[in-house]
Amino acid sequence: MERGISPERALELVLAETPAGRVAEVSPANALGLVVAETVTADRDYPPFARAMMDGYAVRLADAGRTVPVVGEVAAGQNTDLAVAPGNCVSIMTGAPCPAGTEAVVPKEQVVLEERGVRLPAGIEGGQHVAPQGSEVRQGEPVLREGTVVTPLGVGVLASVGCQRVRVFDPPRVAVIATGDELVPAGAPPGPAQIRNSNGPMLAAAVRRIGLAEPALLHARDTLESLAAALAEADAARADLVLLSGGVSAGRYDLVPEAVAAHGATILLHKVTQKPGKPLFFARKGTQLLFGLPGNPLSSHFCFHRYVAAAARLLAGRPPEPPTDRGVLASPLETSSERTLFLTARVEREGERWRVTPWVTRGSADHFGCPDANAYITCPPGTHRLEAGTPIDFEWMGEPR
Ligand code: AMP
Ligand code: MG
Repeated sequence: MERGISPERALELVLAETPAGRVAEVSPANALGLVVAETVTADRDYPPFARAMMDGYAVRLADAGRTVPVVGEVAAGQNTDLAVAPGNCVSIMTGAPCPAGTEAVVPKEQVVLEERGVRLPAGIEGGQHVAPQGSEVRQGEPVLREGTVVTPLGVGVLASVGCQRVRVFDPPRVAVIATGDELVPAGAPPGPAQIRNSNGPMLAAAVRRIGLAEPALLHARDTLESLAAALAEADAARADLVLLSGGVSAGRYDLVPEAVAAHGATILLHKVTQKPGKPLFFARKGTQLLFGLPGNPLSSHFCFHRYVAAAARLLAGRPPEPPTDRGVLASPLETSSERTLFLTARVEREGERWRVTPWVTRGSADHFGCPDANAYITCPPGTHRLEAGTPIDFEWMGEPR
Protein backbone atom coordinates (compact mmCIF):
# COMPACT_ATOMS: atom_id res chain seq x y z
CA MET A 1 0.00 0.00 0.00
CA GLU A 2 1.31 3.46 -0.85
CA ARG A 3 0.76 6.28 1.66
CA GLY A 4 1.16 10.03 1.47
CA ILE A 5 2.15 10.00 -2.21
CA SER A 6 2.04 12.84 -4.73
CA PRO A 7 -1.07 13.46 -6.85
CA GLU A 8 0.93 12.48 -9.96
CA ARG A 9 1.95 9.15 -8.48
CA ALA A 10 -1.59 8.57 -7.20
CA LEU A 11 -3.04 8.99 -10.69
CA GLU A 12 -0.35 6.72 -12.16
CA LEU A 13 -1.16 4.06 -9.57
CA VAL A 14 -4.91 4.26 -10.19
CA LEU A 15 -4.43 3.88 -13.93
CA ALA A 16 -1.92 1.04 -13.53
CA GLU A 17 -4.47 -0.85 -11.41
CA THR A 18 -7.38 -0.20 -13.80
CA PRO A 19 -8.17 -3.41 -15.70
CA ALA A 20 -8.71 -3.58 -19.45
CA GLY A 21 -12.15 -2.39 -20.51
CA ARG A 22 -14.88 -5.00 -20.90
CA VAL A 23 -16.14 -5.53 -24.45
CA ALA A 24 -19.80 -6.02 -25.38
CA GLU A 25 -21.71 -6.48 -28.64
CA VAL A 26 -24.47 -3.94 -29.22
CA SER A 27 -26.64 -2.66 -32.05
CA PRO A 28 -25.26 0.38 -33.91
CA ALA A 29 -27.99 2.55 -32.31
CA ASN A 30 -26.87 1.52 -28.84
CA ALA A 31 -23.24 2.14 -29.76
CA LEU A 32 -23.81 5.90 -29.88
CA GLY A 33 -21.23 7.64 -27.71
CA LEU A 34 -19.27 4.43 -27.07
CA VAL A 35 -15.82 3.47 -28.33
CA VAL A 36 -15.62 0.65 -30.89
CA ALA A 37 -13.44 -2.27 -29.87
CA GLU A 38 -12.99 -3.66 -33.39
CA THR A 39 -12.30 -2.27 -36.83
CA VAL A 40 -15.41 -2.44 -39.01
CA THR A 41 -14.85 -2.86 -42.76
CA ALA A 42 -16.91 -2.17 -45.86
CA ASP A 43 -19.01 -5.14 -47.01
CA ARG A 44 -18.83 -3.93 -50.61
CA ASP A 45 -17.64 -0.96 -52.65
CA TYR A 46 -19.17 2.45 -51.90
CA PRO A 47 -20.81 3.65 -53.93
CA PRO A 48 -21.64 0.10 -55.08
CA PHE A 49 -22.19 1.41 -58.65
CA ALA A 50 -21.19 4.55 -60.56
CA ARG A 51 -23.70 6.95 -59.00
CA ALA A 52 -25.26 10.04 -60.53
CA MET A 53 -24.70 13.02 -58.24
CA MET A 54 -27.21 15.36 -59.92
CA ASP A 55 -30.61 15.15 -61.57
CA GLY A 56 -29.89 15.48 -65.32
CA TYR A 57 -28.65 13.44 -68.28
CA ALA A 58 -26.09 10.68 -68.64
CA VAL A 59 -24.11 11.56 -71.77
CA ARG A 60 -21.07 10.90 -73.99
CA LEU A 61 -18.40 13.61 -74.10
CA ALA A 62 -18.38 13.64 -77.91
CA ASP A 63 -21.94 15.01 -77.84
CA ALA A 64 -21.01 18.24 -76.04
CA GLY A 65 -22.76 21.19 -77.75
CA ARG A 66 -25.10 18.88 -79.74
CA THR A 67 -28.77 18.08 -79.48
CA VAL A 68 -29.33 14.39 -78.71
CA PRO A 69 -32.50 12.36 -78.17
CA VAL A 70 -33.36 11.06 -74.69
CA VAL A 71 -33.71 7.28 -75.04
CA GLY A 72 -34.96 6.51 -71.53
CA GLU A 73 -34.89 7.30 -67.87
CA VAL A 74 -33.24 5.78 -64.80
CA ALA A 75 -34.38 6.67 -61.30
CA ALA A 76 -32.72 6.04 -57.93
CA GLY A 77 -33.07 2.37 -56.99
CA GLN A 78 -33.54 1.25 -60.61
CA ASN A 79 -31.27 -1.31 -62.10
CA THR A 80 -31.17 -0.37 -65.80
CA ASP A 81 -30.04 -2.19 -68.93
CA LEU A 82 -30.18 1.04 -70.90
CA ALA A 83 -26.89 2.18 -72.42
CA VAL A 84 -25.58 5.59 -73.40
CA ALA A 85 -24.11 5.62 -76.89
CA PRO A 86 -22.75 8.45 -79.04
CA GLY A 87 -25.69 10.47 -80.30
CA ASN A 88 -28.10 9.73 -77.46
CA CYS A 89 -28.51 10.31 -73.72
CA VAL A 90 -30.47 8.95 -70.76
CA SER A 91 -32.42 11.02 -68.27
CA ILE A 92 -31.04 10.23 -64.78
CA MET A 93 -31.88 11.07 -61.18
CA THR A 94 -29.54 11.69 -58.26
CA GLY A 95 -28.54 8.41 -56.64
CA ALA A 96 -29.31 6.28 -59.71
CA PRO A 97 -26.72 3.93 -61.21
CA CYS A 98 -25.25 5.39 -64.40
CA PRO A 99 -26.13 3.31 -67.49
CA ALA A 100 -23.31 1.56 -69.34
CA GLY A 101 -21.40 3.97 -71.55
CA THR A 102 -21.98 7.05 -69.34
CA GLU A 103 -19.03 9.45 -69.52
CA ALA A 104 -20.54 12.35 -67.57
CA VAL A 105 -23.78 13.63 -66.06
CA VAL A 106 -25.05 17.02 -67.21
CA PRO A 107 -27.36 18.75 -64.68
CA LYS A 108 -30.85 19.36 -66.09
CA GLU A 109 -30.44 23.12 -65.49
CA GLN A 110 -27.64 23.13 -68.11
CA VAL A 111 -29.59 21.69 -71.04
CA VAL A 112 -32.13 23.27 -73.39
CA LEU A 113 -35.21 21.15 -74.11
CA GLU A 114 -35.82 20.94 -77.85
CA GLU A 115 -38.25 19.04 -80.00
CA ARG A 116 -35.69 16.36 -80.98
CA GLY A 117 -34.16 15.99 -77.52
CA VAL A 118 -31.90 18.03 -75.29
CA ARG A 119 -29.18 20.48 -76.35
CA LEU A 120 -26.09 19.78 -74.25
CA PRO A 121 -23.69 22.53 -73.16
CA ALA A 122 -20.42 22.93 -75.05
CA GLY A 123 -18.12 22.26 -72.11
CA ILE A 124 -18.60 18.85 -70.45
CA GLU A 125 -15.87 17.42 -68.28
CA GLY A 126 -15.20 13.69 -68.26
CA GLY A 127 -16.69 12.10 -65.11
CA GLN A 128 -18.49 15.22 -63.95
CA HIS A 129 -21.28 14.59 -61.43
CA VAL A 130 -20.52 10.87 -61.37
CA ALA A 131 -19.14 9.15 -58.25
CA PRO A 132 -17.30 6.08 -59.63
CA GLN A 133 -17.91 2.70 -57.99
CA GLY A 134 -15.68 2.33 -54.91
CA SER A 135 -14.61 5.97 -54.96
CA GLU A 136 -15.66 6.49 -51.33
CA VAL A 137 -14.46 3.21 -49.92
CA ARG A 138 -13.50 -0.15 -51.37
CA GLN A 139 -14.86 -3.48 -50.18
CA GLY A 140 -12.79 -4.69 -47.20
CA GLU A 141 -11.41 -1.27 -46.32
CA PRO A 142 -11.87 0.02 -42.74
CA VAL A 143 -14.84 2.35 -42.28
CA LEU A 144 -14.70 2.67 -38.47
CA ARG A 145 -11.42 1.96 -36.74
CA GLU A 146 -10.99 0.45 -33.30
CA GLY A 147 -10.85 3.23 -30.72
CA THR A 148 -13.25 5.55 -32.56
CA VAL A 149 -16.11 7.13 -30.62
CA VAL A 150 -19.43 6.35 -32.34
CA THR A 151 -21.15 9.59 -33.38
CA PRO A 152 -24.47 9.87 -35.25
CA LEU A 153 -22.37 9.85 -38.45
CA GLY A 154 -20.72 6.66 -37.22
CA VAL A 155 -24.14 5.08 -36.65
CA GLY A 156 -24.93 5.95 -40.28
CA VAL A 157 -21.68 4.40 -41.50
CA LEU A 158 -22.42 1.19 -39.58
CA ALA A 159 -25.90 1.10 -41.12
CA SER A 160 -24.41 1.66 -44.60
CA VAL A 161 -22.16 -1.37 -44.39
CA GLY A 162 -24.94 -3.56 -43.00
CA CYS A 163 -23.43 -3.91 -39.52
CA GLN A 164 -26.06 -5.31 -37.11
CA ARG A 165 -23.89 -5.86 -34.04
CA VAL A 166 -20.70 -4.03 -33.19
CA ARG A 167 -18.15 -4.69 -30.45
CA VAL A 168 -17.76 -1.71 -28.15
CA PHE A 169 -16.15 -0.99 -24.80
CA ASP A 170 -18.91 -1.49 -22.25
CA PRO A 171 -18.80 1.59 -20.01
CA PRO A 172 -18.19 0.77 -16.34
CA ARG A 173 -21.14 0.41 -13.95
CA VAL A 174 -20.90 2.58 -10.88
CA ALA A 175 -22.26 2.34 -7.33
CA VAL A 176 -22.12 5.35 -5.02
CA ILE A 177 -22.17 4.70 -1.27
CA ALA A 178 -22.63 7.83 0.83
CA THR A 179 -21.38 7.05 4.33
CA GLY A 180 -22.16 8.89 7.53
CA ASP A 181 -24.54 8.74 10.52
CA GLU A 182 -25.21 12.47 10.08
CA LEU A 183 -26.76 12.08 6.61
CA VAL A 184 -30.43 12.18 5.71
CA PRO A 185 -31.78 11.88 2.15
CA ALA A 186 -32.37 15.20 0.40
CA GLY A 187 -36.17 14.81 0.77
CA ALA A 188 -36.18 14.16 4.55
CA PRO A 189 -36.15 16.79 7.32
CA PRO A 190 -32.70 16.90 8.95
CA GLY A 191 -32.39 16.86 12.76
CA PRO A 192 -30.37 19.61 14.45
CA ALA A 193 -27.05 17.74 14.08
CA GLN A 194 -27.85 16.20 10.72
CA ILE A 195 -27.16 17.33 7.16
CA ARG A 196 -28.61 16.30 3.84
CA ASN A 197 -26.70 13.85 1.70
CA SER A 198 -25.40 16.07 -1.10
CA ASN A 199 -22.47 13.93 -2.24
CA GLY A 200 -24.73 11.12 -3.39
CA PRO A 201 -26.66 13.24 -5.91
CA MET A 202 -23.51 15.23 -6.82
CA LEU A 203 -21.48 12.09 -7.60
CA ALA A 204 -24.40 10.53 -9.49
CA ALA A 205 -24.57 13.68 -11.63
CA ALA A 206 -20.79 13.65 -12.18
CA VAL A 207 -21.01 10.00 -13.27
CA ARG A 208 -23.71 10.86 -15.81
CA ARG A 209 -21.84 13.94 -16.98
CA ILE A 210 -18.90 11.79 -18.09
CA GLY A 211 -21.26 9.64 -20.15
CA LEU A 212 -21.91 6.71 -17.81
CA ALA A 213 -25.27 5.26 -16.81
CA GLU A 214 -27.06 6.40 -13.67
CA PRO A 215 -25.24 4.75 -10.75
CA ALA A 216 -26.80 2.76 -7.92
CA LEU A 217 -27.15 5.21 -5.00
CA LEU A 218 -26.60 3.61 -1.59
CA HIS A 219 -26.20 4.80 1.97
CA ALA A 220 -24.20 3.28 4.82
CA ARG A 221 -24.05 4.18 8.48
CA ASP A 222 -20.69 4.48 10.22
CA THR A 223 -20.62 0.84 11.30
CA LEU A 224 -18.74 -2.10 9.79
CA GLU A 225 -22.01 -4.03 9.40
CA SER A 226 -23.75 -1.26 7.50
CA LEU A 227 -20.70 -0.68 5.29
CA ALA A 228 -20.45 -4.42 4.59
CA ALA A 229 -24.13 -4.50 3.60
CA ALA A 230 -23.68 -1.54 1.22
CA LEU A 231 -20.57 -3.09 -0.33
CA ALA A 232 -22.54 -6.33 -0.84
CA GLU A 233 -25.27 -4.31 -2.55
CA ALA A 234 -22.66 -2.71 -4.83
CA ASP A 235 -21.49 -6.22 -5.72
CA ALA A 236 -25.06 -7.30 -6.40
CA ALA A 237 -25.38 -4.29 -8.75
CA ARG A 238 -22.20 -5.64 -10.45
CA ALA A 239 -20.44 -2.32 -9.94
CA ASP A 240 -17.07 -1.95 -11.64
CA LEU A 241 -16.42 1.26 -9.74
CA VAL A 242 -17.53 1.70 -6.14
CA LEU A 243 -17.40 5.28 -4.91
CA LEU A 244 -17.59 5.62 -1.14
CA SER A 245 -17.99 9.16 0.08
CA GLY A 246 -16.78 9.96 3.59
CA GLY A 247 -15.29 7.74 6.27
CA VAL A 248 -11.68 7.75 5.08
CA SER A 249 -10.14 10.32 7.43
CA ALA A 250 -8.63 9.76 10.85
CA GLY A 251 -11.80 9.86 12.98
CA ARG A 252 -12.86 6.99 15.20
CA TYR A 253 -15.85 6.28 12.94
CA ASP A 254 -13.95 6.53 9.67
CA LEU A 255 -14.35 2.83 9.03
CA VAL A 256 -14.23 2.67 5.23
CA PRO A 257 -10.64 1.32 4.99
CA GLU A 258 -11.41 -1.44 7.50
CA ALA A 259 -14.71 -2.29 5.81
CA VAL A 260 -13.11 -2.38 2.36
CA ALA A 261 -10.37 -4.70 3.65
CA ALA A 262 -13.02 -6.95 5.23
CA HIS A 263 -14.82 -6.94 1.84
CA GLY A 264 -11.75 -8.73 0.50
CA ALA A 265 -10.19 -5.86 -1.44
CA THR A 266 -6.48 -5.09 -1.60
CA ILE A 267 -5.76 -1.62 -0.27
CA LEU A 268 -3.45 0.18 -2.67
CA LEU A 269 -3.37 3.79 -1.59
CA HIS A 270 -4.29 6.02 1.34
CA LYS A 271 -3.56 9.75 1.55
CA VAL A 272 -2.24 11.98 -1.20
CA THR A 273 -0.29 15.23 -0.75
CA GLN A 274 -3.05 17.31 -2.27
CA LYS A 275 -5.60 19.87 -1.20
CA PRO A 276 -8.49 19.18 -1.30
CA GLY A 277 -8.78 15.41 -0.95
CA LYS A 278 -5.78 14.46 1.19
CA PRO A 279 -7.43 11.33 2.71
CA LEU A 280 -8.17 9.75 -0.71
CA PHE A 281 -8.31 5.98 -0.43
CA PHE A 282 -8.11 3.40 -3.20
CA ALA A 283 -8.45 -0.39 -3.31
CA ARG A 284 -9.14 -3.18 -5.78
CA LYS A 285 -11.05 -6.43 -5.54
CA GLY A 286 -10.59 -8.48 -8.69
CA THR A 287 -11.62 -6.12 -11.48
CA GLN A 288 -13.67 -3.90 -9.12
CA LEU A 289 -12.06 -0.59 -8.17
CA LEU A 290 -13.07 1.03 -4.87
CA PHE A 291 -12.47 4.71 -4.25
CA GLY A 292 -12.79 6.28 -0.80
CA LEU A 293 -13.56 9.91 -1.53
CA PRO A 294 -13.19 12.27 1.44
CA GLY A 295 -16.65 13.48 2.55
CA ASN A 296 -16.28 17.21 2.15
CA PRO A 297 -18.19 18.05 -1.01
CA LEU A 298 -15.35 19.75 -2.87
CA SER A 299 -12.93 16.97 -1.90
CA SER A 300 -15.26 14.28 -3.19
CA HIS A 301 -15.95 16.25 -6.33
CA PHE A 302 -12.32 16.95 -7.12
CA CYS A 303 -11.16 13.37 -6.39
CA PHE A 304 -13.91 12.09 -8.63
CA HIS A 305 -12.74 14.22 -11.55
CA ARG A 306 -9.04 13.63 -11.17
CA TYR A 307 -8.96 9.92 -10.29
CA VAL A 308 -12.31 8.20 -10.80
CA ALA A 309 -13.07 9.83 -14.15
CA ALA A 310 -9.60 8.90 -15.45
CA ALA A 311 -10.15 5.22 -14.55
CA ALA A 312 -13.67 5.35 -16.04
CA ARG A 313 -12.36 6.73 -19.33
CA LEU A 314 -9.72 4.02 -19.53
CA LEU A 315 -12.35 1.34 -18.86
CA ALA A 316 -14.51 2.85 -21.60
CA GLY A 317 -11.66 2.56 -24.11
CA ARG A 318 -10.79 6.25 -24.13
CA PRO A 319 -7.54 8.04 -23.35
CA PRO A 320 -7.55 8.54 -19.57
CA GLU A 321 -6.25 12.11 -19.60
CA PRO A 322 -8.87 14.79 -19.04
CA PRO A 323 -9.37 17.33 -21.82
CA THR A 324 -6.91 20.12 -21.09
CA ASP A 325 -6.72 23.66 -22.37
CA ARG A 326 -4.79 26.85 -21.76
CA GLY A 327 -6.43 30.12 -20.83
CA VAL A 328 -5.61 33.33 -19.01
CA LEU A 329 -6.29 34.23 -15.39
CA ALA A 330 -9.22 36.61 -15.02
CA SER A 331 -7.93 37.95 -11.69
CA PRO A 332 -4.70 37.84 -9.67
CA LEU A 333 -4.15 34.59 -7.80
CA GLU A 334 -2.15 34.14 -4.61
CA THR A 335 -1.66 30.63 -3.26
CA SER A 336 0.33 29.23 -0.41
CA SER A 337 0.22 25.53 0.41
CA GLU A 338 2.58 22.76 1.41
CA ARG A 339 0.57 20.36 -0.72
CA THR A 340 -0.34 20.58 -4.39
CA LEU A 341 -3.38 22.80 -4.47
CA PHE A 342 -6.23 22.15 -6.88
CA LEU A 343 -8.68 24.99 -7.35
CA THR A 344 -12.03 24.70 -9.02
CA ALA A 345 -12.54 27.33 -11.68
CA ARG A 346 -15.12 28.77 -13.99
CA VAL A 347 -13.83 28.90 -17.56
CA GLU A 348 -15.55 30.99 -20.18
CA ARG A 349 -14.84 31.95 -23.76
CA GLU A 350 -13.67 35.53 -24.24
CA GLY A 351 -12.93 36.32 -27.87
CA GLU A 352 -10.03 34.10 -28.93
CA ARG A 353 -9.17 32.81 -25.47
CA TRP A 354 -10.45 31.04 -22.39
CA ARG A 355 -10.93 33.26 -19.37
CA VAL A 356 -10.21 31.34 -16.15
CA THR A 357 -11.70 32.45 -12.83
CA PRO A 358 -10.46 30.26 -9.98
CA TRP A 359 -12.69 30.00 -6.93
CA VAL A 360 -11.11 30.65 -3.61
CA THR A 361 -13.69 29.03 -1.32
CA ARG A 362 -13.98 28.82 2.44
CA GLY A 363 -12.49 25.35 2.52
CA SER A 364 -13.32 22.03 0.95
CA ALA A 365 -16.78 21.83 2.54
CA ASP A 366 -17.88 25.03 0.79
CA HIS A 367 -19.49 24.00 -2.46
CA PHE A 368 -21.76 27.03 -2.23
CA GLY A 369 -18.86 29.18 -3.45
CA CYS A 370 -18.54 27.56 -6.88
CA PRO A 371 -21.66 25.73 -8.04
CA ASP A 372 -20.91 26.60 -11.69
CA ALA A 373 -17.26 25.52 -11.73
CA ASN A 374 -16.45 23.59 -14.92
CA ALA A 375 -12.68 23.11 -14.64
CA TYR A 376 -9.82 22.94 -12.18
CA ILE A 377 -6.33 24.36 -12.08
CA THR A 378 -3.23 23.00 -10.40
CA CYS A 379 -0.99 25.12 -8.14
CA PRO A 380 2.32 23.51 -7.14
CA PRO A 381 3.35 23.51 -3.46
CA GLY A 382 4.89 26.74 -2.15
CA THR A 383 3.84 30.38 -2.29
CA HIS A 384 2.92 31.85 -5.66
CA ARG A 385 1.43 35.04 -6.96
CA LEU A 386 0.13 35.20 -10.50
CA GLU A 387 -1.09 38.41 -12.10
CA ALA A 388 -4.36 38.71 -13.97
CA GLY A 389 -3.72 37.82 -17.63
CA THR A 390 -1.12 35.13 -16.83
CA PRO A 391 -1.49 32.10 -19.14
CA ILE A 392 -2.72 29.12 -17.15
CA ASP A 393 -3.47 25.47 -17.97
CA PHE A 394 -6.72 23.96 -16.81
CA GLU A 395 -8.51 20.64 -16.99
CA TRP A 396 -12.16 20.39 -17.89
CA MET A 397 -14.47 18.58 -15.52
CA GLY A 398 -16.88 16.64 -17.69
CA GLU A 399 -17.13 17.49 -21.36
CA PRO A 400 -15.44 20.73 -22.54
CA ARG A 401 -17.89 23.58 -22.66
P1 AMP B 1 -15.81 12.41 6.49
O1 AMP B 1 -14.94 12.29 5.30
O2 AMP B 1 -16.75 11.27 6.68
O3 AMP B 1 -14.95 12.66 7.73
O4 AMP B 1 -16.70 13.69 6.28
C1 AMP B 1 -16.11 14.97 6.15
C2 AMP B 1 -17.18 16.02 6.11
O5 AMP B 1 -17.99 15.83 4.95
C3 AMP B 1 -18.13 16.00 7.29
O6 AMP B 1 -18.44 17.31 7.65
C4 AMP B 1 -19.33 15.27 6.74
O7 AMP B 1 -20.52 15.62 7.42
C5 AMP B 1 -19.36 15.73 5.32
N1 AMP B 1 -20.02 14.77 4.47
C6 AMP B 1 -19.76 13.44 4.46
N2 AMP B 1 -20.55 12.81 3.59
C7 AMP B 1 -21.33 13.75 3.02
C8 AMP B 1 -22.36 13.72 2.06
N3 AMP B 1 -22.74 12.58 1.47
N4 AMP B 1 -22.96 14.89 1.73
C9 AMP B 1 -22.58 16.03 2.31
N5 AMP B 1 -21.61 16.13 3.21
C10 AMP B 1 -20.99 15.01 3.59
MG1 MG C 1 -18.11 10.52 7.95
